[in-house]
Amino acid sequence: MNDVIPNEPNGAWTPARSAQRYQIQGWGAPYFSVNAAGHVEVRPNPDDERTLDLFELTEDLKARGHQLPLLVRFTDIVGHRIKRINEAFRKAIEEYEYAGAYRGVFPVKVNQQRHLVEEIVAAGQPWQFGLEAGSKPELLIALAAMSEVGGLIICNGYKDQTYIETALLAQRFDKRVIVVLERLEELDHVFRASEKTGLEPVLGVRAKLTARGVGRWKDSAGDRAKFGLSTSQIVEVVDRLAERGMLHCLELLHFHIGSQISSIIPIKNAIQEASHIYVDLAKMGCKMGFLDVGGGLAIDYDGSKTDFHASKNYALLEYASDIVAHVQEACARGGIQPPTLVSESGRAIAAQHSVLVFDVVGSNDVRFGDPPEPAPQAHRLLHELHETWRGIVPKNVQESFHDASQAKEEAQSLFKYGYLTLRERAQAEGLYWSCLEKLSRTMKRLRHLPEELQQVEALLGSIYYCNFSVFQSAPDVWAIDQLFPVMPIHRLDEEPTVSATLADLTCDSDGMIDHFIDLEDERRTLDVHPIRPEESYYLGMFLNGAYQEILGDLHNLFGDTNAVHVALTDDGYRIRHIIQGDSISDVLRYVEYEPAQMVESVRRQAERAVANGTLTNPQMRMLLQHYEAALRSYTYLTEE
Ligand SMILES: *Cc1c(COP(=O)(O)O)cnc(C)c1O
Repeated sequence: MNDVIPNEPNGAWTPARSAQRYQIQGWGAPYFSVNAAGHVEVRPNPDDERTLDLFELTEDLKARGHQLPLLVRFTDIVGHRIKRINEAFRKAIEEYEYAGAYRGVFPVKVNQQRHLVEEIVAAGQPWQFGLEAGSKPELLIALAAMSEVGGLIICNGYKDQTYIETALLAQRFDKRVIVVLERLEELDHVFRASEKTGLEPVLGVRAKLTARGVGRWKDSAGDRAKFGLSTSQIVEVVDRLAERGMLHCLELLHFHIGSQISSIIPIKNAIQEASHIYVDLAKMGCKMGFLDVGGGLAIDYDGSKTDFHASKNYALLEYASDIVAHVQEACARGGIQPPTLVSESGRAIAAQHSVLVFDVVGSNDVRFGDPPEPAPQAHRLLHELHETWRGIVPKNVQESFHDASQAKEEAQSLFKYGYLTLRERAQAEGLYWSCLEKLSRTMKRLRHLPEELQQVEALLGSIYYCNFSVFQSAPDVWAIDQLFPVMPIHRLDEEPTVSATLADLTCDSDGMIDHFIDLEDERRTLDVHPIRPEESYYLGMFLNGAYQEILGDLHNLFGDTNAVHVALTDDGYRIRHIIQGDSISDVLRYVEYEPAQMVESVRRQAERAVANGTLTNPQMRMLLQHYEAALRSYTYLTEE
């Protein structure tokens, strides 16, 4: 949908204009779009014509008793992402006549939810897609999840003796488990584990590259990086393996220069550097066979296709081609066999598949509208403000803004010294807001906005109170100011006339979303629709399937949200899994409370109150019923 926006501001609004306003084509294609009904439409498998209406799905799920906020996972999207990545590498390999293969792995840390990991393993089977573990618990997940399939298991992260022994024993399974050395000390553990188990290890080394990523994760590489071995340490590993006649145990070179690498240039630099390390390791007599390029493949969260931190300036095929071409060239020059290429894309596989749908529970949105003429005997200031309001035209917006602001300040100081009543001050402030509203409408007709007037929009911006917790569902918004696309999932055939920031349910002033995607830079407000009484208003936060769930915390004890896995069927959709969010009892137990004892404590107080005659029996029953029902209920706001 890319029709031209009509110039006249009163031109009829269309779903296509909403699509443009929210840039859904840029960040959402091919999975998300706007349909003719003005709802967000999901195409979980773009190779297929079938679509789902996200608004209707939400209403349907609500009718079945699934409360908002609701995390909707489309696991077909994950399957499609795995397919796209594998096809991109297959294409690049064909194009360059590369004599090696590609074997991807999914880094479990990105989203460890069992149902998702299981679906990733199943969807990846045609390509022998494997898993990457970054810790002992994740290794346990990988070993259990891949019981029926082939594919690599890459063991990264810091390792102790039992981690390494477990991995070594599992190397005898019918799959390849590779232990990647992150620190030099791990080699001693490996030697000990090998002696103890009587098994030869299959090893990799993680190189600390000079080439760095960009943006927030740039410190994942470089000399001061937390992970990986420097070149001298790598040479030491080779020497120590050689001493023991174990050079054939080293099969893989790994690097990871950080996540969300928004520019292709650092990726090229890293792969060039790593290719040469790989070639030299092979020349030094190591067995080799695998080059693992780590993660970092970015997601275009703002749809701008730039190297802005929330975007990326390269396509998937370009990424695969650059890797294949550089490795090809280095191996040809070194005269060695090209390796099997491994990548560990997490974000690029998991981000798109889940959407958080939440409802708006209220706003501070008060419209003052056109003010009545003050009574003749009213305070001079009120007459002046009304005069300012009446006189606003495009030519004098700046001057009118000054006049209105000054009058408001004067009202405040007159009040302070007792020259204005509370009612008069309230009238003056109402008139001031009427002026700002009229200024905002008038400014829309101007081509160039004086800088000073840009604050009018910010001052007028509404706050929409939303039924979710940033800390639980989008922690990176709070922690690293990450941008996620947020938009209404319905009413997209109406113009969104309100500019709002979004506040969550927590009592924390950081529990806000006040940065939004924009083609140019970032925006401070989101365009939304006026809330209608008695009608739900739903927003969706998109592309939050990577990292958010596991980083989420229990701020104010808002727990895990409900989650559903939705799959398309011939006649609609099917819920594959329902994962109940936390109840209040669940979150209380996390912090060591025992709900039964809490009920007891409240009951004792209620009985004392009944005995003292301050509470009646029916009142006591009602209180205890509420208390017990709340313990069983969802932590978020629920409808009656
Ligand atoms: C986090 C991580 C990844 C995943 O990175 P993405 O940018 O999400 O693809 C891959 N490999 C390692 C070693 C990691 O630590």
